[in-house]
Amino acid sequence: MVVELISVGTELLLGNIINTNTQYLAEKCALLGLSMFHQVTVGDNRERLSEAFETALKRSDVVILTGGLGPTEDDLTKEVCAEVMGLSLMEDAHTKNRIKEYFKNSIYKEIPDNNWKQALVPQGAAVLDNDNGTAPGLIIEKDGKAAILLPGPPNELKPLFKDQVFPYLQKRQPEVIRSQMIKICGHGESQVENKLLDLIDGQSNPTIATYAKTAEVHLRVTAKASSEEEAKSLLKPVVKEIKNRFGNDVYTTKEEETLEMAVVRLLKKYELTVTTAESCTGGLIAGRLVNVPGASEVFREGFVTYSNKAKRKHLDVSKGTLKKYGAVSEQTAKEMAIGGVFAADSDVCIAVTGIAGPDSDGDKPVGLVYMACYMKDKVSVEEYHFKGNREKIREQSVVKALDLLRR
Ligand code: ATP
Ligand code: MG
Repeated sequence: MVVELISVGTELLLGNIINTNTQYLAEKCALLGLSMFHQVTVGDNRERLSEAFETALKRSDVVILTGGLGPTEDDLTKEVCAEVMGLSLMEDAHTKNRIKEYFKNSIYKEIPDNNWKQALVPQGAAVLDNDNGTAPGLIIEKDGKAAILLPGPPNELKPLFKDQVFPYLQKRQPEVIRSQMIKICGHGESQVENKLLDLIDGQSNPTIATYAKTAEVHLRVTAKASSEEEAKSLLKPVVKEIKNRFGNDVYTTKEEETLEMAVVRLLKKYELTVTTAESCTGGLIAGRLVNVPGASEVFREGFVTYSNKAKRKHLDVSKGTLKKYGAVSEQTAKEMAIGGVFAADSDVCIAVTGIAGPDSDGDKPVGLVYMACYMKDKVSVEEYHFKGNREKIREQSVVKALDLLRR
């Protein structure tokens, strides 16, 4: 089954916004094992949208259009699709009611006139309720082809796709495609591939794909089968073997779980609270932890102690240590971690001090980073030599620090 994406919006052509919808949808379609040969972006223009949609319908089985479902004049997607497919627009009572309900709970006193336009639906289309906006999604089927229309705002598109379109596409796709994610920390991509060479070389079903992320590697194992059970039994031994080979370096097998989510999950499990004491990462570790809903249960306090003075003031790092070993040293990292635990009265503290560059610090090279982790009355220190520019060094430090917390 071939699927094609059409993103509608002049702001996309002008580079005012990044087309994250295409990235999201393409990834999900690949997950379903659908073929995709074209992704088109077109402005809010009747003729050009019409032409793009007609072309897409000819060469693809399913066309997913995003954007242009809003109430304003320049929102044309629904009208153009109905016209090209030869369908008239009819008012949908259910959608009309939902629009009323939506506005009841909003800041608007009256429903703007042009919002009623959103209750018009191409004849025979399936309406996908949108809980986060007034424009519903639509599935229009005709002559064996399907057009799926989704609103542009990602916070509306994603839940609609996940809950209603994904299952629809899954049903339309005759083969069962199932995949399993495995996320690994502490190895480079080539290291991971080397360790899996025998599995990757002989692979046909399931397949193993590797994706390099900053200081992480994600593996996707994908199986094609004629039934759910068959797909599962194909996946199981391969996933097990990979997990065995990487042991504790696998931090999750859940698609949606990020490294910081895994850290928070583990801290909760062991009922530990954490503090961060950061120098060169400047609060990024704390920021990642606070990304996780429910982090307040485990995250106590974050110290950004960039200067020596701050390290002394907030973390009680001794003047002697700073003078003798310098701010970027094993000893300073240790004292930062101990200081953090005492200052915040937490169980755990991760401390990071390093040289992110571009200038080195005397005889200490750019990329030298020390991390100390205080846990259960013990402090462990690690020394790293990261490569890359300032941004890369800081990013790698954050991932390593989160990984240390997890272990
Ligand atoms: P609205 O009711 O908000 O007008 P719409 O379905 O008409 O929704 P658009 O007007 O095309 O959608 O886009 C609305 C907003 O959604 C854009 O300003 C942008 O912030 C976001 N958006 C649209 N398309 C994309 C895309 N492809 N990737 C990321 N964001 C997008
Ligand atoms: Mg719009």
